[in-house]
Amino acid sequence: MDVVRAGSVWKGIVVLLVIAAGGLYVAPVHGQDPIRVTNDRVSVRYPSAINFVLNAIADNEITDARLFWQAGPASAFTVQVMSFQPSSRVALQYPLSTRFLSLPPFARITYRWLLRDSAGNELTTENRTFEYADTQRPWQEMANERIRLLWYDLDPDLATSLFSIADQAYLRMQDAFGVELSRQPMILIYSDQAHFAAFQSMMNNLEYVVGRYFPGHNITVNLVTPEMPPELYQDTIAHELSHLYSDNFYVGYARLPLWLEEGLATFNETQDGVEELREVRRAAARDRLVALIDLPGAIRSRNIATVNLAYAEGATIFQYIQDTWGQEGLVRFLNAFRRTTSFSDVVQMQFGLTMAEFEMAWRAWLGYPVDHVPELMPTPTMVPFFFPTPTFMAPGA
Ligand SMILES: [Zn+2]
Repeated sequence: MDVVRAGSVWKGIVVLLVIAAGGLYVAPVHGQDPIRVTNDRVSVRYPSAINFVLNAIADNEITDARLFWQAGPASAFTVQVMSFQPSSRVALQYPLSTRFLSLPPFARITYRWLLRDSAGNELTTENRTFEYADTQRPWQEMANERIRLLWYDLDPDLATSLFSIADQAYLRMQDAFGVELSRQPMILIYSDQAHFAAFQSMMNNLEYVVGRYFPGHNITVNLVTPEMPPELYQDTIAHELSHLYSDNFYVGYARLPLWLEEGLATFNETQDGVEELREVRRAAARDRLVALIDLPGAIRSRNIATVNLAYAEGATIFQYIQDTWGQEGLVRFLNAFRRTTSFSDVVQMQFGLTMAEFEMAWRAWLGYPVDHVPELMPTPTMVPFFFPTPTFMAPGA
């Protein structure tokens, strides 16, 4: 794995101030078509709402208007049918509440309008994209060719070290997957609990307390305060960035099962994984390991100790693969999940082991070999069964 020394990592880093203006976009007025847009405008009221405004005039009555909007390139367009009095001059407004949307700050939102008049003319505006920007903070940005880090109200040395943490995590993932991402991830650092909580919808869970990744948006949001123990934000920044990397890598393909996804993110938190290894060995010594076949359930357990152990076990499985089959084996393993989500298929294909053989080898590697491990109940063999054709139904009978 690449270890970039602190002195060399800062080459090529640009520090600049971003987001000077508020989220206001005014589109040009359209030409002399039967339907003419005179005002197409969006205003963002972060973190509560987005207001879409459209004014149009037409030679005939405008009878139908629809707004199409999409939050993040990976999601589908939502269609909003506007209700209004048909007229040759309309002023439309759609206030979209963002309270219940899972929308990170700086999410990119794309939209267009469709208008129809009574003569059957139709006008579709071009897709426009704007940022759901949090303009309430004095954001500063650091970037290199791989990542962007946005922060405010932090000691510049701390910001610099956060950038290094994120960049190292990115490089570890690049080594693990064997590819670079096509888009630069954006890593947001909030330095105040209230600011951090502001964007969150009602659907939170424990993992989101200090960090959150938003699938499809290429954005992670993290909380870093000066009082926080450094290990906490180090782990979180790397963990969430790993989810982002993985999500980008598998988009449009099969992907890792959740327990492996979390194992990979945990594996990527630190370079050494000493803590996870210690926790897993302790559980092995007490014969309390969660068997591999039970990890998919354990990762969703309500028991936090079980969940933690499942995360740690997943992380040591990646350590084990790296240790045994090398970096090249890790790359092959991760790439194989583009074709299937089945762990047992992948270990069979890549390492020539059944799942039970793999688990026994992993346990031996941990230092706690066992004679057998729990296996899935074999699928009952299907015996082809045919109803005998009753002879009385046979033709001519
Ligand atoms: Zn996670």
